[in-house]
Amino acid sequence: MNDYPMYIDGGFCEASDGGRFDSVNPATGLVWATAPAATEEDVDRAVRAARRALHEGEWATMTPTQRGKVLFRLADLVEEHAEILGSVETTDSGKLAVETRGQSAYVAEYYRYYAGLADKIQGATLPIDKPDMHVYTLAEPIGVVAGIVPWNAEMLLTATKAAPALAAGNTVVIKSSEEAPAPVLEFARLVDQAGFPPGVFNLITGFGEPCGRALTSHPLVSRVSFTGGADTARHVVVNTANNFAHLSLELGGKSPILIFDDADLGGAVNGAVAGNFGASGQSCVAGSRVFVQSGIYADFIDEVVKRAEAVRIGDPLDADTQMGPLATREQRDRAEAVIAESIAQGATLHTGGRRPDGFDAGWYFEPTLLACPDQDIRSTRVELFAPVMSALKFETEEEGIALANDTEFGLGSGVFTQNLARAHRVARAIHSGIVWINTYRAISPVSPFGGFGQSGYGREAGLDVMHEYTRTKAVWVNTSQEPMANPFVMR
Ligand code: NAD
Repeated sequence: MNDYPMYIDGGFCEASDGGRFDSVNPATGLVWATAPAATEEDVDRAVRAARRALHEGEWATMTPTQRGKVLFRLADLVEEHAEILGSVETTDSGKLAVETRGQSAYVAEYYRYYAGLADKIQGATLPIDKPDMHVYTLAEPIGVVAGIVPWNAEMLLTATKAAPALAAGNTVVIKSSEEAPAPVLEFARLVDQAGFPPGVFNLITGFGEPCGRALTSHPLVSRVSFTGGADTARHVVVNTANNFAHLSLELGGKSPILIFDDADLGGAVNGAVAGNFGASGQSCVAGSRVFVQSGIYADFIDEVVKRAEAVRIGDPLDADTQMGPLATREQRDRAEAVIAESIAQGATLHTGGRRPDGFDAGWYFEPTLLACPDQDIRSTRVELFAPVMSALKFETEEEGIALANDTEFGLGSGVFTQNLARAHRVARAIHSGIVWINTYRAISPVSPFGGFGQSGYGREAGLDVMHEYTRTKAVWVNTSQEPMANPFVMR
């Protein structure tokens, strides 16, 4: 059993009331770790520590270059410990170790990207339209940043929030998910070694109520970066009415993949498999509505069935496994219920839809393909967070685009075609924050990530996000020899 502490103000600690909660290994259904259940008092302590570190002490007086060096050190530590970070994430969330270990190593690149930006955040000298005035802007840290992360990519999503925030000179309180608290607490050991002054980088664990609520509504928090579900996001929007914190929301999706007759079938099937069965479908960018042009529809269905039935389901820590369990029993039960409802509405089950034989423990589920006559079928509308692909047939490009855009979400999308002009035409026409052409589920610190509509607003990663972690101050300097003139007339 691993009894992890939290990390507040440069020290490892318990919850103020000693409360802890269990974390279950989804591959076994058994408790393998416990974490502190942060109270409102703990949240307040973490936010006050972050606020102190922002204005007093070493972090406040460090040059941006020095701050960047601390982030570079953290990146090296993350890379060195990628194996253990990945293993902990796998044991806690059920995601494949081959993915979590690789992703942990790649998370180092997020810290490096923003470490390098720390001393490149600039204000401007303005060509002001008034004589004898020198006006410039400062890009200041925005304040204490609260990051709320879900369970499905904790190391990565902690980095997409903390790395730009810290590079801009802010201080941070990250709350990890109650479903998988361990990765962030394992990571706390590296934060402790990296050399951040106390209070700069705090990592807490707990439930939405009281911990998430107290953090996002805290009067000393200036910026909230939230990743999670839309219903929770609605609470967070209300919470930030208390502190007027700037807010970004990275929510879910029901992302479309459009496959045209002229696509390379093998590549398109790989894209659809990656978008639906990768990470057992537990990805915010899961491409779970797959629109296939009629000419290759039958071949596509046959190919996906073959691929789905060959998927190696098993222990996510095993290097040969291709699909591990779902993270929670509730998700598996929900997938079963939505599949049953979709079949009753007229969908055809081509493969999967059940728990695999021989997996009595853990929340395993077979890769599933449903052919859907239209988007009145429930599986085409709700985010399932399970390996369930809904395939639909279309005839023309216009029809495919219209079907793809018939959604309240707008996070990811995929286009598979060999026709260059069509690829770019469709990319423009699709309403989503990310479009992948002849590929799927690729990410980078260099490329903005985020959605439209019910998928949220604001962006993570990329250069532009630095504006979301700084505040602009305009400084006016009177450069004339004369004292200030008539005080009753605006200059
Ligand atoms: P969730 O909304 O249940 O929880 C997310 C986080 O919010 C958790 O840490 C939770 O403790 C916290 N929370 C709960 N109530 C709160 C409150 N009142 N105030 C503040 N925080 C509160 O989501 P989940 O089930 O952990 O994650 C799955 C969801 O996350 C899916 O919808 C998925 O699409 C989304 N997601 C989005 C992205 C993206 O980048 N767009 C990435 C990963 C996951």
